[in-house]
This record gives sequence, structure tokens and C-alpha cells, in this order.
Amino acid sequence: MTETVLPSSVAPVFEEVIRRNPGEREFHQAVREVLESLGPVVVKHPEYADAEVIRRLCEPERQIIFRVPWTDDAGRVQLNRGFRVEFNSALGPFKGGLRFHPSVYLGIVKFLGFEQIFKNSLTGLPIGGGKGGSDFDPKGRSEAEIMRFCQSFMTELYRHLGEHTDVPAGDIGVGTREIGYLFGQYKRITNRYESGVLTGKGLTWGGSQVRTEATGYGAVFFVNEILRTTGETLEGKRVVVSGSGNVAIYAIEKVHDLGGRVIACSDSNGYVVDEAGIDLELLKEIKNGARGRMSDYAARRDGAVYVTGGSVWDVACEVALPCATQNELDEHGAATLIAGGCRVVAEGANMPTTPGAVRVLRAAGVRFAPGKAVNAGGVSTSALEMQQNASRDSWSFEYTENRLAEIMRSIHDRCLETADEYGTPGDYVAGANIAGFTRVADAMLALGLV
Ligand code: NDP
Repeated sequence: MTETVLPSSVAPVFEEVIRRNPGEREFHQAVREVLESLGPVVVKHPEYADAEVIRRLCEPERQIIFRVPWTDDAGRVQLNRGFRVEFNSALGPFKGGLRFHPSVYLGIVKFLGFEQIFKNSLTGLPIGGGKGGSDFDPKGRSEAEIMRFCQSFMTELYRHLGEHTDVPAGDIGVGTREIGYLFGQYKRITNRYESGVLTGKGLTWGGSQVRTEATGYGAVFFVNEILRTTGETLEGKRVVVSGSGNVAIYAIEKVHDLGGRVIACSDSNGYVVDEAGIDLELLKEIKNGARGRMSDYAARRDGAVYVTGGSVWDVACEVALPCATQNELDEHGAATLIAGGCRVVAEGANMPTTPGAVRVLRAAGVRFAPGKAVNAGGVSTSALEMQQNASRDSWSFEYTENRLAEIMRSIHDRCLETADEYGTPGDYVAGANIAGFTRVADAMLALGLV
């Protein structure tokens, strides 16, 4: 399918982004996706154009790239590259996760940081946007190697962080274990027990209830809201989830809680089809305990079928939740989903659906909701963790989950109200982009040229 044409009011901004950030393909894609929605906003608010708000938003406030040397268990020197892109702090301290994956380079970190600005704005909470990570590959590394890497990474990064400055969290390859090693090193270097400097901490050392579950649970709360607009529920629905990491596992848990059945999930080697419904206890044991693979799940579960390679989108379902990584659902996958009866696609991951696939889904009338709205539950609960840290308080699971559900409902409603206001009813992409943008843009205008 051909690309849509950018509104002429924003096309020069996009050309400038391409020129200033050569080769950063994912960043270009993320910027373009937002700019496509902003034509009517610029018409309604010429003040944004006068103050060059969109151009300024596309340029990070600060980009940090650093060397991360460490020694492996054999005593050999290893070298990785670390990144932190502090994109926009008009609404609050920079906030966004750290990703450890061999594919990480500046273009990935910038796409994620850019998305994070609008996502964080949509939550209505006082958090700016940023993202970081490294091309370090944790797969196959020992505990001691992971710890040494995290310590070296933080030995540079600590000077850029602070509870009022920049507050990282986890992402792909960074969970509670890594946040623990990072926090430990921060505390050691600064001699400060500054809980609010990282989120995703363990429950016994400043973490929040529901943070581990938040992104997956939040995504499913969002799907529930989508279905509610047509009087439906998840009860009895066939659901496919890609990935089997943090977001995927807790999305599966919440789908099951709400009466749906997840019949397939995946990792980067293949996928499992389990018509009886994914056995979550077994999946958690394999993934969280032994850090195993989906092939291990299939080997231990009667009736489950493992498919090497291939695409999890070949499995017919009514609701699809891409929860693994960027650009994992392409046009072919979208067409296969439609042929299999899929009616709702909600992005648990960041930018998992290619622009072509989004067009295919929408042309077929599939309700499509973008990651910056659907997966905002993670960062929202991180902001709740910061609130608890600031007040030295600790809330119950039930109270925190209710707050998360309320936040997801209000993000959903804000997307639809904004889509209505700008003449694109039912368009979650336009609604999320415009609602996220206008809150940041207004704050940037108020703060002057900084
Ligand atoms: P995890 O590292 O816990 O899990 C990632 C999962 O995706 C694994 O199952 C992994 O498989 C799979 N995966 C990664 N790369 C690929 C690939 N190239 N092809 C197929 N599968 C792949 O990460 P999270 O669950 O935390 O993050 C998943 C997505 O959700 C990311 O896009 C992230 O940015 C986004 N997100 C996460 C949030 C959070 O709170 N954690 C918050 C908001 C968004 P394998 O083990 O084989 O690598």
C-alpha cells in the first residue's frame, strides 16, 4: 500500500528530521506517524507553528552516548555502547525505560524516546519523555556478567540522573534484576538512597505493587474499553499475543482474568499454539525462573504445538496483541489476521505494526489502537511508584490496580474525545497523537524558548 501524503504544514519538519538524523529509520518512522496526525492541529493552533513547537519537539533536549567496558567471566574485556536520549522535559523529569538488546542503536533509542513524550503526556501525569539502553545482549550471560555490565553502565549514567531530572525504568532485556543492580550502583556512587531515581524496583526496596504487571494489564484494560464501545467484552474471545516477556505474560494473565482465551504466544525463535489456553503458571515458571524458551513450554505441555520460525499472526483470532518488538506485524501478517477474523489489534509493544500493516487493518475496519496509548499503563504505574517514593508510602495491590484501570480508561476516553474534536471519530491513532501532542505543546509554549 502506498504511503500517505504528509500535510504541507508539517512536511518541511519531516524533511529536516531526515536530513539531521541520517540512517535512523525507526526514528523517521515514529516521527512521520505523529506528523501525519498533526495537520488539523496546526490549522486550529497557528501559535504552535509560530513558536516552531513541532520542530523543537523533534530535536532531543540532550543525547548522551557513552562507552561501557566490562569483563566477562573468562576475564576478557568486553565493550558495549550506552545511550540515554533526554527528549523532552516540558511536563516533568525525563521518564522512560532502558533497553538491553543487540539491535539497540541511536535510531531505536530516539524512536522510543520520541514515542515516550506523547505517551507520558497522554497519561495526564507530570512526566517528560526519554529513553536509553545499550547494544549489550543479556542472552547467555551469567548473573555475575549481567551485574558487572549494569554496574559499568550506571558508573557513567548516574551523573545524568536524579528524581527531578531523569528517571529510567525497564524495557526489553531490563527487568527487576537489572534495575536492582543499576540502583545498587547508583546508591553506592552517590551515597544516597534516592528511591525515586529508578522505577521498576523490587517490592522490598521501594518498588510499587502492580508495576511488574502494569503494561500487560493496562493493555488489556484498554482493549476492554475498546470492546465496551460496542457493548462487547473479552468473555470467550480468542486472543493471540506475540512475545513471552514481561508485557506478554501479564497481558495473557489479564485476558484470562477477564474471560478471554490466549491461544498463542511467541519468542524470537518461534511460536506456540495451545488451543486449551496458555498455561500461565507453566509459562511464568519457564520464563521467569529458568529463562527458557517457548520450545521448552511446548515440550512440557500436552496438546501444545511449537512452530519454528513462521508468524504467530497465522493463528486465527478475534483480538491480536503485538507485545514483542518494533515492526513485528507487517502487511502480510495484517492480511492474514483479517482473513482469520481478527477485529481488534492493540499494540502492547512500541511501534510493532508497520505503517503498511496499519493501513491494511484500518481499510478492513479492524479497530486499531497504538502503543503510545495502549501500553501507557507501564509508565503510569512508574509515575505512581515515584509518588509513593516521594511520600515514603506504599499502596496495596488492589488500590494500585484500580488507579491503573482508571488511568487506562481516561487515556482511552481522551483518545476518542480528541478524535471526535478533530473530525476523525473512532481514530485512536489521531486521538492519541493529537491529545499527547497538545498537552506537551501547551507546556512548551508556557515555558518559553528553552
Ligand atoms: P522482554 O524483554 O520482557 O520481552 C520481550 C519479548 O519479545 C521476548 O519474548 C522476546 O523474545 C520477544 N522479542 C524481542 N525481540 C524480538 C524479535 N526481534 N522478534 C520476535 N520476538 C522478539 O520485554 P518487554 O516485555 O518489557 O517489552 C516488550 C515490548 O513492550 C517492547 O516493545 C517494549 O518497548 C514495550 N514496552 C514495555 C514496557 C514495560 O513496562 N516493560 C512498557 C511499555 C512498552 P526473545 O526472548 O526470543 O528475545
